[in-house]
Amino acid sequence: MAADNDFSGPDPTPADLIAARPPFSYHAMDGLLLEGVALNAIADSLGTPTWVYAAGVMRARYRALAAALAGLAAIHYAVKANDHLAVLRLFASLGAGADVVSGGELARARRAGIAPGRIIFSGVGKTAAELRCALAAGIGQINVESAEELAMLSAIASDMGREAPVVLRVNPDIDAKTHPKITTGLRGNKFGIPFDAVPALYAEAARLPGLRPLGLAVHIGSQITEAGPYRAALTRLAGLVRDLRATGLPVTRLDCGGGLGIAYRDEAALAPAVLAGVLRATLGGLDLDLVIEPGRWLVGPAGVLLASVVLVKNAAPRPFVVLDAAMNDLLRPALYEAWHGIVPLAAKDAKAPPIAVDIVGPVCESGDSFATDRPLPPLVPGSRVAILEAGAYGAVMSSTYNARPLAAAAMIDGAQWAVIRPRQREDDLWRGESVPPFIEASG
Ligand SMILES: *Cc1c(COP(=O)(O)O)cnc(C)c1O
Repeated sequence: MAADNDFSGPDPTPADLIAARPPFSYHAMDGLLLEGVALNAIADSLGTPTWVYAAGVMRARYRALAAALAGLAAIHYAVKANDHLAVLRLFASLGAGADVVSGGELARARRAGIAPGRIIFSGVGKTAAELRCALAAGIGQINVESAEELAMLSAIASDMGREAPVVLRVNPDIDAKTHPKITTGLRGNKFGIPFDAVPALYAEAARLPGLRPLGLAVHIGSQITEAGPYRAALTRLAGLVRDLRATGLPVTRLDCGGGLGIAYRDEAALAPAVLAGVLRATLGGLDLDLVIEPGRWLVGPAGVLLASVVLVKNAAPRPFVVLDAAMNDLLRPALYEAWHGIVPLAAKDAKAPPIAVDIVGPVCESGDSFATDRPLPPLVPGSRVAILEAGAYGAVMSSTYNARPLAAAAMIDGAQWAVIRPRQREDDLWRGESVPPFIEASG
């Protein structure tokens, strides 16, 4: 079992981490810079915890992926990785479509200016209301995940006098070799239609009213760092395409899903050129419109979470560095045992000899930990740190657990930066709540 934290060898030091990440550098006076902007300046202005996203990094990553896939596959950004309107707008302006998994994400993507025809609706439990809304908008593709959903969609579309553009999501029973909580293409996972059931259901889709079957989709998991699982899944899908076509069924589209992994520590990420090579080798010559749905790869390395040290609690076997950021802000370490780089903002701290510490948040859960036995320079109350690779599955998973207001967010672009979400106010925490009269009266 490969987990995010399944590493060997000593943890990289802050200097190692920054040396391997060209958008970051240390300035002797200003401290850690992202795209040349001092993160301390943003923390001075907005306080901490604060998310910071670099537009230039997102743009460069999108362009690199688009260049590798030019003439091969269209990119539909997976909105769930980071659904901020500024992020969606940036990808929309670069020509991306979107992959959404709820009515709310559909509304966000449209709000950011992504045409409904360039939006794919995925997910294992779309409601009737969400499907109706998607069809009314003229959605480009609905990825159906079960026979039950296919029947429901047929009934809704017929009732509306529409034809739903349908793709069947196949569960290829392939191990993506990633963390169990982000593996989606195994037989026991809730996702997709069992491989062997696809031909009959595809024929059913061609027969049922209100449906226009376009092709197949697969999404085997997230944070995939090897080509093998993609090759295995897409090879199975190519066989399925040939089988369906042999029975006279039209198959024009293949949605290869997302899952491209990034380097959180010092692991080798999957290069776009390698993915392109796998697509060509497995699906080239089938005359299919190919789509991919990357989320993490586009935004993960573009974001950091800035935090301040509240206090350092002396303890055995290691001191606890308690931050003002917590699992309610960035859930990945608690949810997936994920490894995130943590570096000081002060340049002199980055050079100081590291000591081993545990880095935790203040939430009342033992799982509220960002790092264990991590080499970091001695930090003191008020020292600031950046938690790296926080652009994907960060702010979108935040909650207000422990009545902690949602963190502020800023976006950097070139030398400029702007607040893209103010810190949530305390009285926003109970907005919409009411105390019923019978409770008031009992007081
Ligand atoms: C989550 C998801 C994605 C994006 O996954 P990443 O690992 O962020 O690239 C793409 N497609 C579907 C169906 C998903 O559920």
